[in-house]
Amino acid sequence: MNQRSYLDYNATAPLRTEVREAVAEALRIVGNPSSVHQEGRTARAAIEAARVKVARLVGAAPEDVIFTSGGTEANALALAAQSGEAWHCYLSAIEHPSVLAGGRFYRETTTVIPVTGEGVIDLEILASELAKHHLGGWRPFVSLMAANNETGAIQPVAEASEIVHSAGGLLHSDAVQAAGRMTFDMASLGADMLSLSAHKIGGPKGVGALVLKPGVAVEPLVKGGGQERRKRAGTENVAGIVGFGVAAELAGADLAKTEAIGALKEALEAGALAIAPEGVIVSKAVPRLVNTSCIAVPGAKAETLVIGLDLAGVAVSAGSACSSGKVEASHVLGAMGVAPELAQGAIRVSLGIGTTSADIERFLGAFGELIKRLKQSRKVAA
Ligand code: PLP
Repeated sequence: MNQRSYLDYNATAPLRTEVREAVAEALRIVGNPSSVHQEGRTARAAIEAARVKVARLVGAAPEDVIFTSGGTEANALALAAQSGEAWHCYLSAIEHPSVLAGGRFYRETTTVIPVTGEGVIDLEILASELAKHHLGGWRPFVSLMAANNETGAIQPVAEASEIVHSAGGLLHSDAVQAAGRMTFDMASLGADMLSLSAHKIGGPKGVGALVLKPGVAVEPLVKGGGQERRKRAGTENVAGIVGFGVAAELAGADLAKTEAIGALKEALEAGALAIAPEGVIVSKAVPRLVNTSCIAVPGAKAETLVIGLDLAGVAVSAGSACSSGKVEASHVLGAMGVAPELAQGAIRVSLGIGTTSADIERFLGAFGELIKRLKQSRKVAA
């Protein structure tokens, strides 16, 4: 039996075996994809084959896929696009930090839209904010993630897109966590731009894409050579892109298996609440990603739980683990109005294609021990 249980797929998903093999093979490619000789053409062909696979995952045309260094760069590229004078940017309060940073929009031309207590964007406020600025002649640029990385809460992107489009604007959606975990495409989301990241779907780290609706323009962030149809300069990460393509293909094929992941998550949540009945499953009342569970235990400290679980062989994270090993207050839980005392005891458990019922049992065993210790220490202190 595997000695560790990796339950942190939202931080990064383990590299798929088929991806590792394809990447190793692609590292042998000699040519620069911009070169006209045979070696160059081989590299070009590998990239274009991957582009078709990534496009297929989200129902886009291959020529509308711009490869980037990851989800962060894809978000930055989207938010650099329409930052000219006529645009006003709207972001939900629970976006990933790479979106909340605002790209090239200035603070004065950015409005943050609040979320409900369940962590879903408030569409009424979005509509009324757009109406305000519409009167002033601004065009709205809205960035709304498809699903949140900490809670898994699925956002009403299609409804938001109707509101944005009827106000003459554009909608970008960060689908980094949604890809491979729920069924959607560019058309069903009504997105003009979509961000993806390979490493969340079993691909290599350091590669992603911004996908465009036909005819939508972007202003390159990185200028130089004419790569990626002049939208992102720099010699392409050929092996990484090849790995991304294989991961996208597998993620699309494995969407049918997400139901089994959902059953494991339900067992995990039922077990956790049996151990800690005072615990709260964050965003439980709204549709969530099938793999994501944010469990908050009043009086617990997330870092203690994360370290304790790690020592017991279980990898989970405290809130978002994107940027640092430091546990900071979660801006997502803060925006939802979760009390700080509860938020500080919130851990994120995220499952994936490799998760088994033995992993859930190991988690529950370790979690049970930690909660028992917490209750004993409270009794001693009382
Ligand atoms: N967007 C979301 C929702 C994420 O969860 C992450 C990473 O955790 C990113 C963007 C950034 O992606 P990358 O790590 O590829 O830069």
